[in-house]
Amino acid sequence: MENIILQTHGISVKYGNFLALDNISISLKNKHIYGFIGENGAGKTTLMKVLTGLLYPTSGTFSLFGKLEPSDILKMRRYIGSTIEAPALYSEYSAYRNLELQRILVGNPDKEICDKLLGIMGLFEFKDKKVSKFSMGMKQRLGIAMALVSKPKLLILDEPINGLDPKNISELRTLLKKLNEENDVTLFLSSHILNELYLLATDYYIIHKGKIIKSLTHDELDKKLSTTGQNLEEYFISVTGGDNNA
Ligand code: ATP
Repeated sequence: MENIILQTHGISVKYGNFLALDNISISLKNKHIYGFIGENGAGKTTLMKVLTGLLYPTSGTFSLFGKLEPSDILKMRRYIGSTIEAPALYSEYSAYRNLELQRILVGNPDKEICDKLLGIMGLFEFKDKKVSKFSMGMKQRLGIAMALVSKPKLLILDEPINGLDPKNISELRTLLKKLNEENDVTLFLSSHILNELYLLATDYYIIHKGKIIKSLTHDELDKKLSTTGQNLEEYFISVTGGDNNA
């Protein structure tokens, strides 16, 4: 049986009277790569915040690495790396110092990891540069490096491709594939760039107006596309009822 590392049971989130997440039940299997798709305001970031502990759900529960108790979930969160909305960076500190502080915070004893991650993310030559002088794409890459400092087993990235140029997108794809294949990292990625998600994802969840309206594997998606003759955007629009702008 495939190992489920995260499972949500009926997660709902209300902001005041507005129901942003409505009874969400999803499960993430070890080593799969999930594309999380939905139009603006569908609830992607809200769910990612719940999964990473930035937001308490109004109702519902979830298990993480087989643990259900809140105190155990708290401990298991150290195996999650994430970038949600703008990465939390100290802009007056260098890239290296930001990573080093994160390394100490998460308790990773490997002192080489910061330089290694700077190299992997193509930022080594800027290691001593203040983050306030970084471009958006450089901050984005540093944010992903920050998420990797704890050597996570589950990486949750909200719009990781935003702000990256085509070369960096392709390098990030290679890196994420490598993390998945060689380090067994499970990935949960949101993006509006469907063609890019398609190149990586093994599975998809489609969220619409706070509800999961579709879950399918990459093979199932391929079959749908070939039987309907639709492209990715057309399929997505047909699933969400034609009123999306993703
Ligand atoms: P996008 O693709 O634009 O980032 P999203 O799918 O990530 O959108 P969320 O940010 O999760 O969507 O927002 C879901 C809904 O909840 C939206 O209608 C949004 O306006 C609302 N919302 C989000 N955060 C808050 C908040 N702090 N207070 C009130 N409403 C909020």
